[in-house]
Amino acid sequence: MSSDFHTHTCLSPDSKAPVREVLEMARKRGLSAVAITDHAEIDGESFGFVSPHCRSYETYRREVREAASDDALKGKLKVLLGVEVGYRIEYDTPVRAFLEAHDFDLVIGGVHDSPPVDWWDPGAGDLLRRHPEMGVQALVWYFKQVEGAASSGLFDVIAHIDVYERYLPGMWPDPFTHPKLAPLVRKAVWAIAKHSRMEINLEMVNKRGHFAWSALRFLEMYREMGGKPPVVGSDAHRPEWVGLNIKEGERLALRAGFPSVAPWEEVVSRKEA
Ligand SMILES: [Zn+2]
Ligand SMILES: [Zn+2]
Repeated sequence: MSSDFHTHTCLSPDSKAPVREVLEMARKRGLSAVAITDHAEIDGESFGFVSPHCRSYETYRREVREAASDDALKGKLKVLLGVEVGYRIEYDTPVRAFLEAHDFDLVIGGVHDSPPVDWWDPGAGDLLRRHPEMGVQALVWYFKQVEGAASSGLFDVIAHIDVYERYLPGMWPDPFTHPKLAPLVRKAVWAIAKHSRMEINLEMVNKRGHFAWSALRFLEMYREMGGKPPVVGSDAHRPEWVGLNIKEGERLALRAGFPSVAPWEEVVSRKEA
């Protein structure tokens, strides 16, 4: 039975999906568990939920619990109260304080930028083509941050390690062979294997029909470094993407040499124990 460890709802600023519809889709797709993992981000000095509909943990928990208590879901779908933390090493103190103060079943961490390259800037592709050294600079920053996120010990799962490929596919230097990047990639993946767990992210599969070229490479490196079985997350921001193509993600884990993906009980057990 499959579990989707990464979904967004209208309790995130970048999604309009009602929580109820996300859970309903998870049930329709026959998932055994789904994690609601809305964005918590830095906002000025403080760290927390940043949707116009939800700016407090209490609101967040109530909205998710209410939707999860629907009779149609009882005994059919395990709903995990998760969160996706937008991490930077410089935010470590407020992130830590936020996670210590609030209970979650699942905490995933992701790095969401790579200065000086802005993924959302329409001119970024052109910039990378003309100045490939800026791509190197951006990925040096990015992989150091991913290593910091994993080493922090705050996260059950590190999300979408090759997220930058999602926005500017094929325009980045090869992180596995570039002399400046390759050692940083190994350090980041090693930190995930040691302190956290790798996610197989379905966002590119669901939008473009294929994984980033590097997805299997990262996963294989993670397994060789002793990483625990990975999890699959759709990163759905719309109900129709919840659990979509999840079998593709599970197959990628097998191709990388894992006997299976991790069942949800294994990922959340340290807190329920
Ligand atoms: Zn993310
Ligand atoms: Zn996400």
